[in-house]
Amino acid sequence: MRIDVLTLFPEMFEGVFGASILGKAREKGIVSLATVNFREYSTNKHNTVDDYPYGGGGGMVLKPEPVFAAVEDLMREGEPKPRVILLCPQGETFSQSKAEELSREEHLVFICGHYEGYDERIREHLVTDELSIGDYVLTGGELPAMVMIDSVVRLLPGVLGNELSAVTDSFSTGLLEYPHYTRPAKFRDWEVPEVLISGHHGNIEAWRRRQSLERTFRRRPDLLERMELTPADRRFLEELQKNEAET
Ligand code: SAM
Repeated sequence: MRIDVLTLFPEMFEGVFGASILGKAREKGIVSLATVNFREYSTNKHNTVDDYPYGGGGGMVLKPEPVFAAVEDLMREGEPKPRVILLCPQGETFSQSKAEELSREEHLVFICGHYEGYDERIREHLVTDELSIGDYVLTGGELPAMVMIDSVVRLLPGVLGNELSAVTDSFSTGLLEYPHYTRPAKFRDWEVPEVLISGHHGNIEAWRRRQSLERTFRRRPDLLERMELTPADRRFLEELQKNEAET
C-alpha cells in the first residue's frame, strides 16, 4: 500500500512513521508512507497557501490551487486513482469498518487542514471521502491522519506478528473484546478464571464469546443492535437482561 499525506507540518509525522509497528511495516516494504508539504505547490511570491474568506469573517481558508496541484502530482498515468481523504470534523466518523475498507485500497492520500478550513471546491471536486475522528475540533488534521493511518496499516497482511490479534480486536467482530489474563495464575488474592487454565478450547471459546457479549451489553449496547446474533447469543443476552431487571 502507498500512503501520502499532504500537510504543512511534515515534521509532526517523523516519530510516528518511524517507530513501532508502522516503522516495521515500512521497513518490511508492506507500506510506503510519505509526506508532501503542499506549500511547495504554492505559485505566489510569498508561498502562501491560505487567504481571507470571501464574505468576511474570522480565520483563514486553505486555497484550492496548491492542494489540487499536490494531489494531482501524486497520480500516475495507468495507476488506479487514489482514495483522497479530507480530514474534517464535519466528515463521517472514522470506525473500524472504515479502517478495514481503506486497508483494501492500493493508494490513500490524506489532506490535513489547518486554520478555519478549506475552500469548498476541494471538498466538491477533489476528495472521495471526508472523515472525522470524533465530535471535537483540533487545530489541524495531522493527529487525525496519524490515528487513521495507524489503524489501517496494522490491518495489512504481514504487519502484526500474530494475525489473529487483529481478527478478535474490539469492533472487528462487531463486539468489544473479551478480557485477557497472563501469568501468574494468582496475583495477590485474584485468580485467573479457571476455564482459561483448563486447556479445553471449546469451553474457552464459549466463555470468551459470553464475556464479549456481556461487555458489549454493559458498555456499548448500541453495537448489539447493529450485529447479527446467533440464537445462543440471543438466549445469553435475554438472560442478562432478565437478571438486570431482577436486581
Ligand atoms: N472551522 C472548521 C469547522 O468548524 O468544521 C474546523 C477547522 S479545524 C480548526 C482545522 C483542521 O483541523 C480541519 O480542517 C481538519 O483538517 C482538522 N480537524 C479538526 N478537528 C478534526 C476532527 N475531529 N477530525 C478530523 N480532522 C479534524
